Amino acid sequence: MPSLNSTVSALKPSGIRRFFDLVLAAGPDVVSLGVGEPDFSAPWNVCESAIFALEKGFTSYTSNAGLLELREEISKTMPQASWDPKSEILITNGVSEGMDLAFRTCVNEGDVVLVPDPGYVMYEPLITLARGRVELYNPLKIREITIPQNTKGIVLNFPGNPLGNCFSKEDLQHIANLAIKHDFFIFSDEIYEALSFSAPHVSIMDIEGIKDRTLYFNGVSKSHAMTGFRIGWACGPKEIVEGMTKIHQYAALCACSLSQLATVEAMRRSQKDVKKMVTEYKKRRDYCVERLSKMPISFIPPQGAFYIFVNISKFFADDVQFCEAILKKEKLAVVPGSAFGSNGKGYFRMTYAASMEQLKEAMDRLERFLIDTH
Ligand code: PLP
Repeated sequence: MPSLNSTVSALKPSGIRRFFDLVLAAGPDVVSLGVGEPDFSAPWNVCESAIFALEKGFTSYTSNAGLLELREEISKTMPQASWDPKSEILITNGVSEGMDLAFRTCVNEGDVVLVPDPGYVMYEPLITLARGRVELYNPLKIREITIPQNTKGIVLNFPGNPLGNCFSKEDLQHIANLAIKHDFFIFSDEIYEALSFSAPHVSIMDIEGIKDRTLYFNGVSKSHAMTGFRIGWACGPKEIVEGMTKIHQYAALCACSLSQLATVEAMRRSQKDVKKMVTEYKKRRDYCVERLSKMPISFIPPQGAFYIFVNISKFFADDVQFCEAILKKEKLAVVPGSAFGSNGKGYFRMTYAASMEQLKEAMDRLERFLIDTH
């Protein structure tokens, strides 16, 4: 066989996936707080609208940029940004595709993009595929960030995966000032926006003077429990959205038409369902925080998304060993913090996108494991 693309061959598989092969092998009685996916189903009116669309034969391509009525709904969610639905919003196959398109459109070979560590696993490989150079920063020390030469952009993600952290308006203003001073882009992944618990979400779009250098990403995967619909959106300056649309047009043509229609319904008539899910996540978070607080471990105060990042370095030198040991002994699956970058060493990530019953069982198992091993 001829050789494969060397950049792709050199990419490491995600540490999360590798760990999940172990979880699958561990058998059916595992309690998994591993996968970062809502445990709810998509709202029924949303599913119905997809069924009706099929019945009505809505089975063709949409425009490359996506249904205009959906882009119009999206522009209403952020009036302060006043994006033009016709030229500044692109519907993508999830935030994942949107960020891939953005990096490929904005980054030249050797350009530096600053990426959170610990951070969501997709940013680094996508920037590498776009031939950019990744430099890491600690999102818990956002005010101490230094800007290397050739910096072309920074990835922000808040509420954050895996930390569950949020940024204040002052934090965002600080980044905005740096972006203007050093002339770089801001790629703001706000997919967990609806799941900001401690305070109302402040978006990067609430900061003035950066609209011409900022791409904002959101979608319905997390807020509406619609991960399988694969709908996200990227909003930003016309020139960048135009570039992204070119790649999208060749590589994907458009996002799934049924899913786009279903997302219009989600945005128009699912606020109650979203509110119900958010209330439930908050209840679960409070429960886990209360239980964890009584254990001899520390954790990053979870302010949003549906993750808690727990420090176990007092007990185990190696987080991968910890996760393997608790999986083997207690059949509890959590993800090693180092899967999210080297600053995640000594931690594990647990999600509370699981039923209260599962969370109670998981907390009991964790507590017992900590007592038994020490
Ligand atoms: N961004 C973050 C921070 C995520 O945690 C995830 C999924 O876990 C995604 C993006 C992917 O979103 P989508 O389903 O819209 O592609």
